[in-house]
Amino acid sequence: MSEDDTSLPSLSRRGFLAGASGTAVGLAAAGSTAAQPQSLPEIPEGATGRPFPEAELQMPLPSSERLGWAVVGIGSFALNHVIPAITRSQTCKLTALVSGNAEKAARVAANYGVPDAAIYGYDNFDAIANDDSIDIVYIVLPNGLHAEYTIKALQAGKHVMCEKPMANTVQECRDMIAAADEADRKLMIAYRAHFEPHNQRALQMKQEGAFGDVKMLLGHTMRTLDLSRPRDEWRALSDLAGGGSMMDIGIYALNGALYFLEETPTMLAASISNPPDDVRFREVEDMLTVQLRFGSGALANLATSYTMNENRIQLLGTDGSGLLDPATSYSGNELVATGPDGSRTVSVGQTSATQFTGEIDHFSRAVLEDLEPRTPGAMGLRDVALIKAMYASAERDGWVKLNPDGTMVES
Ligand code: NDP
Repeated sequence: MSEDDTSLPSLSRRGFLAGASGTAVGLAAAGSTAAQPQSLPEIPEGATGRPFPEAELQMPLPSSERLGWAVVGIGSFALNHVIPAITRSQTCKLTALVSGNAEKAARVAANYGVPDAAIYGYDNFDAIANDDSIDIVYIVLPNGLHAEYTIKALQAGKHVMCEKPMANTVQECRDMIAAADEADRKLMIAYRAHFEPHNQRALQMKQEGAFGDVKMLLGHTMRTLDLSRPRDEWRALSDLAGGGSMMDIGIYALNGALYFLEETPTMLAASISNPPDDVRFREVEDMLTVQLRFGSGALANLATSYTMNENRIQLLGTDGSGLLDPATSYSGNELVATGPDGSRTVSVGQTSATQFTGEIDHFSRAVLEDLEPRTPGAMGLRDVALIKAMYASAERDGWVKLNPDGTMVES
């Protein structure tokens, strides 16, 4: 995958390139990994305008051509990351809000220029079907509500981006995929790390053989659950969260393991431990470790927790390693490559913040150009299935075999 995969959709369908003197060459060269030219370009001295106008073709779409996004659930992540990213994107505009809190929704709508008529509640959600300003619905609700509102949005004729984890159960994931197929609408799961430049660079280096044969992966993604923060209250409740640290933050290590090893595991064995008498872990898990075995012989060890703070993924190869630390933070991720000549921090030429606009613009492109999203519903289903297999493995204290879609082979 090249870094320009995260860039602006090809605008040719909308006529942006029509009449341009060149093609979109040069866009790929914006990435730090592009090969350097062997001679200097001939640029006239003095003010003549840029001699290679292709560089400016990567322009934001005009407002009238942008896809309208509705955000469902105006909580911590929506307010701090999703909505700002939509406004920074090249292809989208915020056209509607769905919230159970009318006063909050009115304030957010006023801040972002969303008309009052485009503020919906959960009780009149189905009315979005009649709102032509909405092309895409972004579900940013607690996990246990993802399936219901994704399916309703698809049935209303909208494309859907749904936050991770896709849903609480494998059956819900299947129902969401079926609803997308039936409505002939697109469904993407918001795995932002696939659009994060350090993660992309690590995969590219692995694919180019920079670490030799990558046969092992270690992933530790953890964070402290703090019930004094409103956003963490529902995460302690199994009906709304579907599980504990693995569903919430461990899923990054899991998804990363499969992203980097480019393989689905055939077996896993997991172990769970909860501190006794801690109210946070009455319904969901704290610590979970899991070993994944892959058909190629590769192994991954993952650990997650709600009482520690770690965020690192390490690819271990026969000629070196790639360490992402932090791996999946909102900002400031880093990649360190180690080889025979020592360690070096890899420069990727982009900040981690581009992951948010990257995934949003990618889904708009998928809708505009009828492409399969890079992180489709099947990926979300696979990860939920694998997490459920981990819970079953921990429960029976042994290895479980896995089907290619991530579900457990029933024994
Ligand atoms: P919050 O609790 O901050 O926000 C959830 C919002 O959902 C609430 O503000 C509320 O919005 C709405 N809601 C509707 N019903 C309920 C309910 N019964 N209980 C609580 N909230 C309800 O959570 P986050 O924003 O942290 O997480 C939302 C989703 O985003 C989750 O699926 C989470 O996994 C995902 N996420 C993804 C991240 C990423 O990096 N990709 C990072 C953080 C979260 P309103 O008042 O407007 O109705």
